Amino acid sequence: MTDNNQTGVKTVNCPTCQKIVKWQEESIFRPFCSKKCQLIDFGEWANERHVIPVKEGPEDFNLDDLEFRNPTEGEF
Ligand SMILES: [Zn+2]
Repeated sequence: MTDNNQTGVKTVNCPTCQKIVKWQEESIFRPFCSKKCQLIDFGEWANERHVIPVKEGPEDFNLDDLEFRNPTEGEF
């Protein structure tokens, strides 16, 4: 029923190399342009191709440690 024969194909930029990627079924690695770029991006957090299990460290995350900055009012 839906014939996607529109000329305006939505495109995105590959997060890795900024190449333009058509947002369509064909582009299976979207938003990446290729598997390579996808892996590169994955590598940034996964360090190579190892799948790192979710680390659940001790939760000593204190809000107090964060500097609570008030939104600067009146500052341009
Ligand atoms: Zn790319």
